[in-house]
Amino acid sequence: MRGINTRCLHLKENEAKAEHFGAISYPIYQSATYEHPSVGQSTGYDYSRLQNPTREHLEKVMASLEGGTDAFALTSGMAAISLLMELFKPGDHIIAEADLYGGSIRLFDNVSKKNGISFTSLNCSKDDIEAAIKENTAAIYVETPTNPMINVSDIAKISDIAKKHSLILIVDNTFLSPYFQNPLSLGADVVIHSGTKFLGGHNDTLAGFIVTNNQTIQEKLRFLIKTTGACLSPFDSWLMLRGIKTLGVRMERAQQNALKLAEWLKTQTIVEKVFYPGLKEHPGYEIMKKQARGFGSMITFNVQTKEQALKILEKVKLIKFAESLGGVETLITYPTTQTHADVPEETRLRNGITSCTLRLSVGIEDIEDLISELSQIFGEL
Ligand SMILES: *Cc1c(COP(=O)(O)O)cnc(C)c1O
Repeated sequence: MRGINTRCLHLKENEAKAEHFGAISYPIYQSATYEHPSVGQSTGYDYSRLQNPTREHLEKVMASLEGGTDAFALTSGMAAISLLMELFKPGDHIIAEADLYGGSIRLFDNVSKKNGISFTSLNCSKDDIEAAIKENTAAIYVETPTNPMINVSDIAKISDIAKKHSLILIVDNTFLSPYFQNPLSLGADVVIHSGTKFLGGHNDTLAGFIVTNNQTIQEKLRFLIKTTGACLSPFDSWLMLRGIKTLGVRMERAQQNALKLAEWLKTQTIVEKVFYPGLKEHPGYEIMKKQARGFGSMITFNVQTKEQALKILEKVKLIKFAESLGGVETLITYPTTQTHADVPEETRLRNGITSCTLRLSVGIEDIEDLISELSQIFGEL
């Protein structure tokens, strides 16, 4: 198989002949519907909720990057997770990582539960998953590293448990992107992405993906996306394709910055703890070395007091105080009032998210400028 950087740019199946007048950038097929050659015939495209050439090209690129047999491009990461939940029926039970993205917790607690699906939340990097399996358990849902506490769980090990009990293993791979980690190759059945983050990479487009190599799930999802309709638009599909072209160089550069920043944060007196899986003392370091090709660029850290955390958020200028992650610009987030505001305080604290916790999505700026800004702010506290 070709390398991942090549696969971000080229699909082998497009190489046989010059298509689309030889356009190097895949065209945007901004059409809702398609003319039929005659009764009972189709060009292969009938209506853009079902098929659209630009979206289909993107889905093939994503399937190739994650090593799946099919991929689905949706309007946001949450649309992808919501669609996935339609695979389950009332009475089903799901074992879910406790420290999930706040929106996933909100979806499970407020929508999936209402639809008759029950959940057991665990710290999948520590707790006994097998002990939580019930007769009606249908799936295990993990994120690794988790958002925001950067817990790392062993995908291959969890996959063994899932296979033994015939459960679907779902992995939200948003934090590392397919550039650094491929859960399907470690035994997962379904991979989820918020395309809004590293895949799009420019903080300009919302998108979500589901990738699978399971034929039954694939067929069910094709039917479900056609039926429920949260498919990605042609233009946003094109923006995703353009973002993915530079996935590798962005991920490498952001990671290089993150490693330096994590090391620097450790030396700061106001910083109590740094959570970055590329630090040797991180409990997930060895698992990351085994199952991923890099450590990513998400850093969570605790300062000494809530007042310090709030002051940092007020003082940042180059670093933007904003939700989201994975873009070229460095962003700082306060999980307590932003990404995880709808998660009950008790759950937040149990997961380790306190009023002193800040999360950095490190971008591709010059690292000296990022350190210089934080250094000045820390000095003023
Ligand atoms: C952002 C995010 C999501 C949700 O994606 P949206 O595109 O914002 O809907 C899901 N999982 C993780 C880990 C995320 O960071």
